[in-house]
Amino acid sequence: MKSKDWGIEPRWEWEKFKKVIVFVIDDSLSDNKSSVIGYISKLIDEFKIPINVIDGNSEQADDLRFIKEIVSKSVENNRINYEKFEDELREFRKKGKLEYGIVILIDKEKYEFCSKPSQSNAIYGIGVDDGLVILRYTHREAVRHEFAHMLGLNRHHHPPKPECIMNYECSTYIFCIDCKNKVQKLWEEEIMEGKRIENRGQAEI
Ligand SMILES: [Zn+2]
Ligand SMILES: [Zn+2]
Repeated sequence: MKSKDWGIEPRWEWEKFKKVIVFVIDDSLSDNKSSVIGYISKLIDEFKIPINVIDGNSEQADDLRFIKEIVSKSVENNRINYEKFEDELREFRKKGKLEYGIVILIDKEKYEFCSKPSQSNAIYGIGVDDGLVILRYTHREAVRHEFAHMLGLNRHHHPPKPECIMNYECSTYIFCIDCKNKVQKLWEEEIMEGKRIENRGQAEI
């Protein structure tokens, strides 16, 4: 049902799995991982979307090898081709693996993004509504911007809206009212379900 509003097909319905899992492929980035988990949890909480944000390296360690495999297949000369990454990821998902939303932190000293004509000129990271975010930078603005792409805000503002994080240059961490409304509409079903669960929990206390 969500794909109707989403407008892009085919789209992987990662939201059905109610999980976003954050991985680092380099142990040196473990501290950054905690802050990324914090920023994403906060964002999801702001919108009251019932999704768990999980540390992949400790809680889903078996899947880390698949992630590493996909990274190695989609990197050439230290440049990540994220379209290739998405293709490889889709193959795993068809086999019932890595079906949840995925956030991966990569070492910015080691990797850059490909500059192919079909791929936007990504520096900080990429986020796609197919359920994938790859981050080179992990400051709050970068995390919120890319994760919002994954939630379905798939375009930047034209003309630019400097007061919104969905500008290409994200100079704020705040969403404009249009972006907020769009996320709330896309995630209406989940938000309602979350409220039902919350109310039920309270009734039992
Ligand atoms: Zn963007
Ligand atoms: Zn906006």
